[in-house]
Amino acid sequence: MAVPWEDALRDEPAVREAASVAVDAALLEGVLMRTEGQPNASEVVNYAPFTLLPSAVPRALFQQAYAVQQDFNLLVDAISQNKEFLEQTLASTIKVDDFTARLFKIHMQVLEEGLAQPVSLGINRSDYMFDCGQDGAPALRQVEINTIAASFGGLAARMPAVHGRVLKVLGRSEEASCLLPNNPARGLAVGIARAWELYGSPKAVVMFLVEEVQRNIFDQRCVENELWSRDIRVIRRRFRDVFERGSLDAARRLYVDGQEVAVVYYREGYVPKNYDQQNWEARLLLERSRAVKCPDIATQLAGTKKVQQELSRPGTLERLLPGCAQAAARIRATFAGLYSLDMGEEGDRMAAVAIAEPHRFVLKPQREGGGNNLYGEELRQVLEKVKDSPERTSYILMDKIEPQPSMNYLLRAHSPLQMSECISELGIFGVYVRQGKELVMNEAAGHLLRTKAIQHADGGVAAGVAVLDTPYLV
Ligand code: ADP
Ligand code: MG
Repeated sequence: MAVPWEDALRDEPAVREAASVAVDAALLEGVLMRTEGQPNASEVVNYAPFTLLPSAVPRALFQQAYAVQQDFNLLVDAISQNKEFLEQTLASTIKVDDFTARLFKIHMQVLEEGLAQPVSLGINRSDYMFDCGQDGAPALRQVEINTIAASFGGLAARMPAVHGRVLKVLGRSEEASCLLPNNPARGLAVGIARAWELYGSPKAVVMFLVEEVQRNIFDQRCVENELWSRDIRVIRRRFRDVFERGSLDAARRLYVDGQEVAVVYYREGYVPKNYDQQNWEARLLLERSRAVKCPDIATQLAGTKKVQQELSRPGTLERLLPGCAQAAARIRATFAGLYSLDMGEEGDRMAAVAIAEPHRFVLKPQREGGGNNLYGEELRQVLEKVKDSPERTSYILMDKIEPQPSMNYLLRAHSPLQMSECISELGIFGVYVRQGKELVMNEAAGHLLRTKAIQHADGGVAAGVAVLDTPYLV
């Protein structure tokens, strides 16, 4: 997977010049993040980290990832409506994982009361790496699907312009013209706008539910801008604001600060540290409300690692998507090996295999946001410790994907310019809207390429490990 500008990477003066152009281009294009020191103020901002140059992505795998996205949308939507499947699949997990258990409890509570809103809006991002099999031909392998707060659809849209500029500076105009345009933020906003319309109250607002610490606000503002340009009002509130000033009326319409909310778009709420008792109460209030939730709690649960692992069992996809054998086959073709560690023979056997050959696997707890997975020696130690106790069922086991590394420069504020051996992860954004039983929108909405140095096994852009990139199709 070589890029045509490999030699340019070793021309140090040219690289220095290109890097300074790149940083200014990123600032001009709005590839921005707030600083670690002042995460809630925009007085001083910086560029979000990114690669100096685009990374090669096999065209066929890129197309495959796009082609399967509508299938994944269908699948996530189907799981979210399948009470029995979620119940059975998560039964062992919720016994040992308190966070999943609390989400699940809200899920059951809202089902018992009856859903107040027939419209459902899903925004997800399916992430892949390109696995080099024994024969050396790369294959598309899904890492995970994010069904809540999938980020960087805004900043990703600004990267082709930055990388186009860099390639031109390096005398690569022809390659620059091959970079694909990409605007996930617009696709996300189109979905949110559709749900807002179906809610049917022109003065109601879209509420972005945001974190206490808001370093990545500019990425979210890209989506907000798209909504404002469609004359849809957007407000930003935290769980805390909802707890203090949110309420439901008799028809369970949601009001926050006196404004009726048509759509709640979560960019928060996916990790335990997002919740204290008040925030859990706020989450319940939102889930019970008539507002369209993106995602609703069932869809969040559909994105758990445990669900991902159960999907890989023979026959499960076919059961969840009856009459869609081809969609199921396309989805299955992207799966890496996934294994349950539930108590019993199968779990015993896989725990033993992973302890014997830890480098072949990744051990994953039910967590999002990067930095939670275990590899190698650490994986072995943890499995040794939990292998005979039900605690092991809070994890799943996955085959380790082995991409072919390539060289690039990772540009980060206050970091020296140095070449790194890197691997990339491609994400495809999916958006769908369902009204009752009818799917009224089902789209692939753009992509995100993230790249990191190979010495980091884990972690995304927000975690400070990966950086933004642009695919160069080869
Ligand atoms: P999270 O929900 O924390 O983002 P992921 O499943 O996406 O969890 O894992 C985080 C990171 O770990 C990924 O971005 C990827 O770099 C690495 N990773 C995850 N699964 C695998 C795998 N099967 N093989 C190799 N690397 C993996
Ligand atoms: Mg991830």
